[in-house]
Amino acid sequence: MSALPPIIVGAGPAGVRAAETLVKAGLRPVVLDEGFRAGGQIYRRPPVEDGRGYRARYGSEARRAEALHKTFDALAGAIDYRPETLVWNVSRDGGDRLDLLSTGAHGELPFTHLLLATGATDRVLPFPGWTMPGVYTLGAAQTALKAQGCTVGERIVFMGSGPLLYLVAWQYAKAGATVAAVLDTASFSAKIHLAHLALHAPRIVALGASYGLRLMLAGVPIRYGVRPVRVEGEARVEGLRYTSGGKSRTVACDALAYGFALRPETQLADLAGCAFRFEPRDRAWLPAADSLGRTGRAGVYVAGDGAGIAGADAAEIRGKLAAMALLADLGRPVDVAERTRLSRALDGIYRERQLLEKAFPFPADWFETVDPDTALCRCEEIRLGEAVDAITSGKAAEINRLKALTRVGMGRCQGRMCAAAAAELLCGLRRDTPAAMGRLRAQAPVKPIPLGFVGEERP
Ligand SMILES: Cc1cc2nc3c(=O)[nH]c(=O)nc-3n(C[C@H](O)[C@H](O)[C@H](O)COP(=O)(O)OP(=O)(O)OC[C@H]3O[C@@H](n4cnc5c(N)ncnc54)[C@H](O)[C@@H]3O)c2cc1C
Repeated sequence: MSALPPIIVGAGPAGVRAAETLVKAGLRPVVLDEGFRAGGQIYRRPPVEDGRGYRARYGSEARRAEALHKTFDALAGAIDYRPETLVWNVSRDGGDRLDLLSTGAHGELPFTHLLLATGATDRVLPFPGWTMPGVYTLGAAQTALKAQGCTVGERIVFMGSGPLLYLVAWQYAKAGATVAAVLDTASFSAKIHLAHLALHAPRIVALGASYGLRLMLAGVPIRYGVRPVRVEGEARVEGLRYTSGGKSRTVACDALAYGFALRPETQLADLAGCAFRFEPRDRAWLPAADSLGRTGRAGVYVAGDGAGIAGADAAEIRGKLAAMALLADLGRPVDVAERTRLSRALDGIYRERQLLEKAFPFPADWFETVDPDTALCRCEEIRLGEAVDAITSGKAAEINRLKALTRVGMGRCQGRMCAAAAAELLCGLRRDTPAAMGRLRAQAPVKPIPLGFVGEERP
C-alpha cells in the first residue's frame, strides 16, 4: 500500500467526487485548489456569502450545485483540503513532487498517486480589438456574475459558439443587464442537430431553447453566421462591427463577452510525463488515458474537463471512475457493478457531446477575415502578420517551431490564451488538420507566480 496519501488537484465536480470516492474507501486524500472555495467553474462559490440563494446563483443547476457543495462540506474532517494553493509545477528530479504556491509561500508535496482534475478555460480567437478593456471571455463574464455578483457592463454583446453563449446571455438578461445582441458564429442551419440531440438529451435542448426564446421575447437580436470586423472605441469598448448574412452591422455596447467552447487545462499532466493524443472533438491534445482516466504514467490519473471536454455531469462521473482506478491500483476493492453503470452513463454523455458539437461548430475559417495587424499573442505583443509570415515562408510548419520563431506562447500565459489560436492559424494556412500542427509542450510555472519566487530558498 502507498505510504503517501493520494493527491487530487482541483476541487470542481471531478475533484470533489474523486475525493468522496477515496474517502468512502478509507483514504484521506489531499485536495489542492487555487480557488478560495470548492465547487470549480460551474458551481463556483463567492469568496464570501452574499445573501443569494442557490436558485438565484445557479438557476437550473441549483440542485446539482447544492448537492456537490454539501458533499464537499461533509468531507471536511476526512480530507486534507488546501484552498488558495496553486500547483505550478510537477517536478520529477529526485522523486515525484508538486511545487505549490500557497498564500504567498512556497511548498512542496511528494506524491505516489496523483489525480488531476484541473478543468478547462475558455477558448478564444483574436480579432481586431479583442485586447481592448471591456472585452471578456464568456466564462469570465459568468464568473463576475456568479462569484462577484456584478456584471461586466451595462449593455453587453455576447458572441461565439457553444451552449455557454446563450446561457450567459440569458443569465445577464435575468440579472437586469441589457443584452445588446447575441451573435452566434455558427449558421442557423447547424441548429438542426439540436433536433437530433433532443431525442437523447431532451433536458439540455429544452433548457437551451428556453434561453434563446426568452432572449428573443425580451427583444434581443440574435444573429447567426457572424464574423466580427472590429471592436469600436478608442480606449475601451463602445461597439462591435460585424458581418452576418452578407450584411455589415454595428451594435453599440460597453462590454463584449465571447468564446468558442472550452480548452482543457492539461499542463500538469504534461509536466508529470503523461503521453498525449489528439482529440478531434475538442480540437485539442489530451493526456492519453484508459476509459477510467488511468494514464500511461504509473500513479497519475486524469478526470473531468481537463481530461477532455464533456461537461459537469460527466466530470462528476469521471472523478469517481478515476478514483476507482486509483483504488484498484492500490489493491483496494472496487464496486465493479457501479463502475460499469458509471461507464455506461459516461458513454451516453459522449454521444450527446458529439451532437452538441455539430450544433455549435468551431469557426474553422476564422483567420480568413482577420486583419494581419491584430494581436495574436497579447503577452508578447505579437501580431498575427508576424506568425503568418513565419508560416507562409515555410519556416514554421508546426507549433513549437512557430513559438521558437515568433515567441507566440512564450509569455506569461505560456500559451494558455494564444496557443489554440496559433494552432488554428497554422492548420488554416497549411491546409492540414490541427493534429498535424503538433503540440505545444507545457513549461513550469503553469500559471504566473511572483517574480523572484522560483529563485527563493526553499524550506
Ligand atoms: C468559466 C467557466 C464557466 C462555466 N460555466 C458553465 C455553466 O454555467 N454551465 C455548464 O454546464 N458548464 C459550465 N462550464 C463547464 C463546466 O464548468 C465544466 O464542465 C465542469 O466544471 C468541469 O468540472 P471539472 O471538475 O473537470 O473542472 P472545474 O470545475 O473547472 O474545476 C477545476 C478546478 O481545478 C482548479 N485548478 C486548476 N488548475 C489548478 C492548479 N494548477 N492548481 C490548483 N488548482 C487548480 C481550479 O481552481 C478549479 O477549481 C463552465 C466552464 C468554465 C471554464
